[in-house]
Amino acid sequence: MEPFPRFAASRPMAADLQDLKHKALEIHRRLCAVYGCPIPYFHSYDPLSELVSSLLSHRTKNADSSRAYKALRARYPDWAAVRDADPEEVEATIAGVTWPEQKAPRIQAVLRAVAERHGDLSLDFLGDMPVREARAWLESIPGVGPKTSAAVLAFSSLRKAALPVDSHHHRVAQRTGLIPLSLDVGPSHAVLEAQLPPEWDAQQIYDNHEVLMLHGQRVCFFKNPACERCVLLDLCPTGQGRMQGKPLAPPARAKRSPAPASKDRML
Ligand code: SF4
Repeated sequence: MEPFPRFAASRPMAADLQDLKHKALEIHRRLCAVYGCPIPYFHSYDPLSELVSSLLSHRTKNADSSRAYKALRARYPDWAAVRDADPEEVEATIAGVTWPEQKAPRIQAVLRAVAERHGDLSLDFLGDMPVREARAWLESIPGVGPKTSAAVLAFSSLRKAALPVDSHHHRVAQRTGLIPLSLDVGPSHAVLEAQLPPEWDAQQIYDNHEVLMLHGQRVCFFKNPACERCVLLDLCPTGQGRMQGKPLAPPARAKRSPAPASKDRML
């Protein structure tokens, strides 16, 4: 396949913002054709429940975090009861996720912060705020970073136009040159969102996240990406390098980091 002329492998990092916007749109268009946009939303939790679900999901398989979320819902009548419970009991309830000993007190602290700052244990009020303001409100809580704030607004019943970036999405964006290999997940949120049309609605932003994530899960694997069958090959400097026999350069974030510090802002 001939390289897509505008984004030849020789100049991925020299591309200016306009080039990157075109490239982001072309990637979106091709991946939507493969995975079928619009992508159905996978659930419809209220925003506070989505916040807890998102905090549970950090570096954890979906099945495990989903089981832990259901265990919390089964054990406690509401989120106030989780907030006020014995931390060790909460930890035991979510034992299937990674770092339950950190996530239990963090979830309780975040629930306390929501109640203290808003005066009520609910995040429904975020629905009346512009996305930027709502994200800033959420991210002012220690332990809530850009990925979590975007997930709360985009995945919950609020259905706001916010772009979460998970590890699969991030890897595909790095390898295709939408972002530098050195750019961490946290700061990549603002960069990738700025490449998308400002008039896009919540479904289109959600689709963008979903198709890049799905591509990372099904084609652009962490260890051995299937470049030979990838619809992005002519756009992708990494894939073209591999076709020429170059080894895969591990992204900076490929290394597994230790358990997050209690005030990890990149969640
Ligand atoms: S060409 Fe290879 S590295 Fe590039 S996005 Fe496709 S699978 Fe990933």
